[in-house]
Amino acid sequence: MRIDIITCVPNLLESYFAHSILKRAIEKKLTEVHLHDLRDYTTYKHRQVDDYSFGGGAGMVLMVEPIDRCIQKLKEERDYDAVIYMTPDGERFNQKLANRFSMLTNIIILCGHYKGVDDRVRQHLITHEWSIGDYVLSGGELAAAVVSDALIRLLPGVLSDETSALSDSFQDDLLAPPVYTRPAEYNGWKVPEVLLSGHEANIQKWRYEQSLERTRERRPDLLGG
Ligand code: SAH
Repeated sequence: MRIDIITCVPNLLESYFAHSILKRAIEKKLTEVHLHDLRDYTTYKHRQVDDYSFGGGAGMVLMVEPIDRCIQKLKEERDYDAVIYMTPDGERFNQKLANRFSMLTNIIILCGHYKGVDDRVRQHLITHEWSIGDYVLSGGELAAAVVSDALIRLLPGVLSDETSALSDSFQDDLLAPPVYTRPAEYNGWKVPEVLLSGHEANIQKWRYEQSLERTRERRPDLLGG
């Protein structure tokens, strides 16, 4: 999967892809992430990419032209399965969307900034609009990082144990069971006996029960009431 992220603040995103699991996924060529600086696509002076809102009111708006030029250039180079705009009024991003979109080959993610983007971008250039939650960020960069991370960790080979993503929360509409590591006892706080038993079937059963219990307690909505 290749992800092209369009932003007017690429520096905000660089470090996120330069460490840990995402860095290794890129090094192993399991994914490609390309950051595109909107300011490289403007014809205005001083690399301007935003302007005042028609009709007045506070806050700058990202102009349609640089965004269109950037998207068209990318589309000339390859076909895209989706052009996603991160926006608080979009569809709520969740694990099901992550699963579905992790199957795609090439996607573009557009980050807004300031007041957002000229609405003609949304009307003519965007295929999907996603929100990461009911709150407003100052830019779409964090949201694009959230979405990219959720997609990339699902790609085959990215997590060391291939079943690892399947046992995470929200797969099968269940929350993940608790996990423990060494030491088996700390401060008198003990790890559940069954996990040390080496009895695979009992461990699986315990984990499933814990998952169910956590989901019932914390997110009964996932179990469909
Ligand atoms: N005026 C807009 C908010 C603009 S916030 C409104 O009220 O809807 C600036 C940018 O941050 C947006 O263009 C979007 O790309 C990003 N952003 C902010 N909150 C977000 C969220 N919850 N999910 C996804 N993107 C968000």
